[in-house]
Amino acid sequence: MPLKLQHLCMNDIDETLQESQEGAFAPTDKQICDDVALLWRQEPSTEDLGISKLHSKIKDRHGNWIFSERKLKQILIEHNLLFTDETKLFTYADQVTALECPHISDKHLEKVELKRTGKNKFSLFAKKDLRRDEIVFYEHEPLTPILPLEKTSLAAVGRACSLCGQSLTQSSQFTMKNGLDCRMCSAVWCSKHCKKFDTTHSVLKHPMSRNKQVSASGWLTFEQFCKDNVMHAAYSVGIIHARALLDKSEGPRIKEQFEALRQISQILRIRAADSTNIGGTFDATTGAVSLEDKSIWNRSFDSFCKAFPGVENEIDSNDYMTHIGKFNLNQCEGQVFTLYSYLNHNCEPNVRYELDGKTGLKLFARKDIKKGEELLTTYVNPLHGVTLRRRELLVNWGFLCSCERCNKELASREKLKSQHLFSSEKTNNNTKARRKSSMKTSKPDLSELLKNGQEFNLEVPDEIGFGRRRKSVRFDDCVVAAVEE
Ligand SMILES: [Zn+2]
Ligand SMILES: [Zn+2]
Ligand SMILES: [Zn+2]
Repeated sequence: MPLKLQHLCMNDIDETLQESQEGAFAPTDKQICDDVALLWRQEPSTEDLGISKLHSKIKDRHGNWIFSERKLKQILIEHNLLFTDETKLFTYADQVTALECPHISDKHLEKVELKRTGKNKFSLFAKKDLRRDEIVFYEHEPLTPILPLEKTSLAAVGRACSLCGQSLTQSSQFTMKNGLDCRMCSAVWCSKHCKKFDTTHSVLKHPMSRNKQVSASGWLTFEQFCKDNVMHAAYSVGIIHARALLDKSEGPRIKEQFEALRQISQILRIRAADSTNIGGTFDATTGAVSLEDKSIWNRSFDSFCKAFPGVENEIDSNDYMTHIGKFNLNQCEGQVFTLYSYLNHNCEPNVRYELDGKTGLKLFARKDIKKGEELLTTYVNPLHGVTLRRRELLVNWGFLCSCERCNKELASREKLKSQHLFSSEKTNNNTKARRKSSMKTSKPDLSELLKNGQEFNLEVPDEIGFGRRRKSVRFDDCVVAAVEE
């Protein structure tokens, strides 16, 4: 009997999908999830699409993907991307704890007051009337400067400052003349200031260094592990731990302040995650690691322990995950600014921040603020639509935003939906056109948002590639342009 080759597929494939094209394959849950999240980010109006339209939209983007509508629906539900009752969604903000923060400079508190407003809640309030665009405070330094993970390779060969990551254009002659190089390795610094503050360099980077608390070769392995797995938060926790441990003058302050900051275990944060990768919303700015690979966290903790011999007597793997969660909760563009991190969120914020050229953060009033008013920043890009904003807040900070702006926008969305439902019930035709028009109006109204001039201060990056750039809006590194349809 002649043998016949037959393709067997274990996935649930619609009959209609059987005619597959060359190179067709069944995408993983992760791929589907991440692409849906990416699509919603690129085209906010597609969040209103029903499953079947969403399915064909994703199919349009990936002609070779084989997956059914049923599969799509099931995956979206599993990943908190589709739900019928939002009160049933997992939130964790009520489990976040915080302590009174020590060592905040009086200079920073000239115009603001840091007050406890609940057992684990703190807020910043205006101490006096503030005018629009007035500077509220200027944190010259973060908790401790963290060289961006992606700059570590450049820094190792002397092409970026070892502390602040600024790309270096100075001549080697200038560097040597000013003593900005390291005698033991290829590292260089952009300024005397950066060299002075890089207090952990020799212990972390010179394999021959003899320090009981740190193994330089262990650290270099840990750093590489973080780089290979895009674990910005783990790497940053390592730097913070090293400075707290080794910096004789600043160490105690760094330790106590980091201890005080709001905290939650990363394990709980992962429960609220909706996607895992580029285009997703969960820890997108600090590099979300694959959530399917749970062992990666254990391996990163083991590697952390090898960098700091004996640390496991002080920090267990649960504490480590809390440090990771804490860093993600408080970080702003990869750094922790102590006072800034106490600001609460509102989608219509009354303050905005700017990073200065190197390591500082300036906070400005975005509108006139009365004495006693709470200062509120935005944790997410305010130009995003209400659904995306709320999802970003849910997965990254663990709460469902119910600020005035969200409520207003949700109400008008609901109104549009019911109008649409009502009119299509009545006429029961031309649904497509109606759907389209309702979608168009439910997009965030950019002209409304931008009517106060440059209030969100979107800036085009002044340099592409390496080197720091000033940004007023975090989270979206590439805000291309806002165009009218
Ligand atoms: Zn520098
Ligand atoms: Zn060195
Ligand atoms: Zn809101």
